[in-house]
Amino acid sequence: MKRLWKAGTALLLAALLILSGCTARGPAPEESVSSAPEEEGAMPEPTMLPREEVGELENLLLVNAENPVPDDYTPELYPVSGAYQMDADAAGSMLWMLYDAAAQGVDLMVVSAYRGTERQRQNFNNKVQEYISLGLSEEEAVEVTSQWIAPPGTSEHETGLAADIVTPGYQMLNHGFAETQAAKWLAAHAPEYGFILRYPEDKTEITGITYEPWHFRYVGKRAAREITERGVSLEEYLGVAGETYAE
Ligand SMILES: [Zn+2]
Repeated sequence: MKRLWKAGTALLLAALLILSGCTARGPAPEESVSSAPEEEGAMPEPTMLPREEVGELENLLLVNAENPVPDDYTPELYPVSGAYQMDADAAGSMLWMLYDAAAQGVDLMVVSAYRGTERQRQNFNNKVQEYISLGLSEEEAVEVTSQWIAPPGTSEHETGLAADIVTPGYQMLNHGFAETQAAKWLAAHAPEYGFILRYPEDKTEITGITYEPWHFRYVGKRAAREITERGVSLEEYLGVAGETYAE
């Protein structure tokens, strides 16, 4: 009976942790110093992917304004946090990234991951309507909206390879996020898990997207390390910056 109760509690705790997308513990309070080591491991290790395989699978699919998501692209989806899902390869690594960050006292929170094209269309159109109601013409509204939301068919979120990540103490998707401990941790460690900061501040001309310190894209560990070390965008890495990708 006691065992069952414990197992049930552990499951409930695991569910809560997954829903919150981060660790239940913030920075360790004084009293937790004396708690037993086994209690520290309250967050279960991810089981989807063995740790040694984190970031091993490569996926360099380029999606941007000139390169829409292929029509037949249907990612195999896996939950990463609450209702948020990602491509299975990306999800396996993301779960380890969230786990390791939490273990180091950094609360990461996924606030967007896979979005179907219809959802992307709704988001885009809602924003266009918002700008029109502020007095912009439709053409202007579409142009301004495109700076912030990728037109349907051209968002990396439609591939399941990208996620927007913030932290409970700073949940706004704006440049202020870059100053948080979570953003700094991500910038330093995401490549170890196969993720890149996809829209850096100094690459907006090439990516066509404003600086997004919260948007991380799975490419695989090898490419993520090279892209980050060279300080290039995915477009530059693939050699297609500034030209239409022909394939
Ligand atoms: Zn995003």
